[in-house]
Amino acid sequence: MSDPFDKLVDDARAVFDASASKPLRDAWGGLDLPQVRQDLIARFADAGIVDAEIDARYLLAHVLSPASYADAVADPALCSWQRISLLADLAWERLKRKPMAQVLGSQPFWTLDLLVSEDTLTPRADTETLVESVLKTCGQEAAQLVDLGTGSGAILLALLSERPDWRGLGIDLSPAALEVARHNALRCGLDDRAHFIEGRWGTGLADQSVDILVSNPPYITSEVLAGLEPEVRVHEPKLALDGGTDGLDAYREICADILRLLRPGGWLAFEIGYDQAKAVSDLLEVTGLVAITTVKDLAGHDRVVMAQTPVK
Ligand code: GLN
Repeated sequence: MSDPFDKLVDDARAVFDASASKPLRDAWGGLDLPQVRQDLIARFADAGIVDAEIDARYLLAHVLSPASYADAVADPALCSWQRISLLADLAWERLKRKPMAQVLGSQPFWTLDLLVSEDTLTPRADTETLVESVLKTCGQEAAQLVDLGTGSGAILLALLSERPDWRGLGIDLSPAALEVARHNALRCGLDDRAHFIEGRWGTGLADQSVDILVSNPPYITSEVLAGLEPEVRVHEPKLALDGGTDGLDAYREICADILRLLRPGGWLAFEIGYDQAKAVSDLLEVTGLVAITTVKDLAGHDRVVMAQTPVK
């Protein structure tokens, strides 16, 4: 009679064997770990993945954790068939050009580690410029913060994590993104101060209800978006990226409502595309905002525009 434990292991193997990544596991059957790594890098490079070696390193670190790659090379017992099967499953997804953050399920942003999915824009390091600018400009006192098009909740949660007296509301058109944002609030221990509602920009909010308004709206022109890498073009939500013919559709729509939403003396911070500082500043000026400034990201590109509503 077969041992019940052996049967469990056989069943687990059968589940892995039924998954789509079987060709990878078959190819890696007789290989040692350095050979698997080389094969993985070659396959990633063939698939057109720019950072083939770096992505392979991250995936190996992920599946081997808590052991390091070097530990596992020295001691093959640290590299079980489950770990190689998991590597095959994750690599299979990456070969379809899924972004690394979606393959791994989370992405570091500011001091947080945030869940992401195909319904949320992957938080970018550039967006930390917006977080930093708001923290520098807006002071510490209690404030009501609103994030329009919150996606994973990245900006809202990073700001709340630094300002214990602020309360935040994230708004998004996508219920699936809001679900991710709510999980992130729980994961960061900020669910008592971070709330998320479905809506189109600030349309559902009461007059003068906001002290600080932040947004990283879709700002890529439809034409540019069509030419981007599949990681962005195919796997990230168009809703979060496509800013229309000139990339400015979302800014126009939000600007039409800013003076109604923000209290006098309130702050606005927009993330912008590297070539949009003038266009967005002009929109804000026409809207009636003052103290309009542009902030550069670490690469030296214009990345954030901040402005204030006049104090009457
Ligand atoms: N910075 C993002 C990118 O280049 C775009 C973000 C946005 O449209 N808000 O992919």
